[in-house]
Amino acid sequence: MHIKEIEIDGFKSYAQKQIIGKFDDQFNAITGLNGSGKSNILDSICFVLGISNLTHIRATSNNDLIFKSGQCGITKAFVKITFDNTGARRFSNYGDVVTITRTISISSGTTKGSNNYTICGSNASCSAVADLFRSVGLNVNNPHFLIMQGRITKVLNMKPVEILGMIEEAAGTKMYDQKRNTAIQN
Ligand code: ATP
Ligand code: MG
Repeated sequence: MHIKEIEIDGFKSYAQKQIIGKFDDQFNAITGLNGSGKSNILDSICFVLGISNLTHIRATSNNDLIFKSGQCGITKAFVKITFDNTGARRFSNYGDVVTITRTISISSGTTKGSNNYTICGSNASCSAVADLFRSVGLNVNNPHFLIMQGRITKVLNMKPVEILGMIEEAAGTKMYDQKRNTAIQN
């Protein structure tokens, strides 16, 4: 399972619809000038994955995620991720292609902006999307899911046991260590 394509429209610096595609199934690198929107692409993935701590995507409110915070007539941010689900069919119960979208609209004054998700074209709740991603081991709200720009040096300086702990936490296997220790003690 891997990302096939990302469509971004109105999200952060992406004022107009843009399709970023031809992703490799193993390894991808995004290159470009400083400030050209590389990290914003990663932020857009976290956005669809349902990140709850907006500071991790360098925003303080949903409005910050919309192009120019809605000041230039663009009042919605939309991101669609198309996953290639062939092979092991990690998204079980789904076909070869799985699309997940998230759209938010600007909030102003007392008007609360909307926040909508779809899975394969059908409206879905935020928790249904979170459950779907968790079912394939993608939990963007896990503290070790992201190694943000600037944090890489910290990771490089970690002791091996700390790196192991971080990977166990990210892979979701840490809880088994705790259960094993409890079982040994009893
Ligand atoms: P670097 O190489 O320095 O890491 P980058 O390619 O990762 O750069 P990004 O951080 O993705 O760059 O993009 C930064 C740009 O996005 C800045 O110019 C910033 O003003 C712009 N930006 C962020 N949020 C918005 C927004 N809501 N509306 C318009 N532009 C935005
Ligand atoms: Mg960057």
